[in-house]
Amino acid sequence: MINTITCTALEKSFEGDGTKTVALENANLIFEKGEFTAIIGPSGSGKSTLLSLLGTLDKPSKGTITYDDMEILNKRKNQIADFRFQEIGFIFQQFHLLPTLTALENVLTPLFSRKVPYNKLEQAKEVLEQVGLQDKMNSLPSQLSGGQQQRVAIARAIVHKPSWLLADEPTGNLDTETGERIYDLLKELNKQEGCGVLFVTHDPTLAAKASRIITMQDGVIRSDEVGVTL
Ligand code: ADP
Ligand code: MG
Repeated sequence: MINTITCTALEKSFEGDGTKTVALENANLIFEKGEFTAIIGPSGSGKSTLLSLLGTLDKPSKGTITYDDMEILNKRKNQIADFRFQEIGFIFQQFHLLPTLTALENVLTPLFSRKVPYNKLEQAKEVLEQVGLQDKMNSLPSQLSGGQQQRVAIARAIVHKPSWLLADEPTGNLDTETGERIYDLLKELNKQEGCGVLFVTHDPTLAAKASRIITMQDGVIRSDEVGVTL
């Protein structure tokens, strides 16, 4: 159970065709598990890059990330994958559900990729109930609304009880009202389960409700503020 993520002088650059894009520059940030943090900034400002690094999906070009006192990125690939599985849940704008699997089967997928010691089916049903989809367990993604599909994706992200939920524009494909409901659900998970939640958004109204707001521009952390409502 990771309580603190610390980024020190974190940098990510992409090179190709003789050009170098610095997607993230000298980021120094500490995240505590109970926080509910919004990351905002224009397109291309490095928000997704930061989230991928924090979620061990990518490695920094420079600098370090420590999870409590551990530098997991120095470890072997399968150790990193195990760490990610135990600690982190991802939610994306495009939901990324498997179209031929039902809601329940989609939620079960992460549990089948690892040997887990609990009753997989019960666990998957429980989280689907938690996100309010008890009546849609056997529906295919194509039979669900955008908001419902995102709920399935959230259920899949939390089914293995991660300590951190990383969401990249999770409400970006949804209308305002549905987006707000998804936001409320993330907030509830933050409160009930104590998950550290980091979510990228373009919506200033949603961001303003977070307990912490990080603003990025051109790969740089421009501001890091405590939100108005806690
Ligand atoms: P945001 O999520 O804020 O829109 P990103 O983190 O996706 O921004 O991208 C930041 C910058 O890094 C952009 O200029 C983008 O083009 C560049 N970038 C991101 N990923 C890659 C990649 N895999 N290869 C090359 N450039 C990339
Ligand atoms: Mg992005």
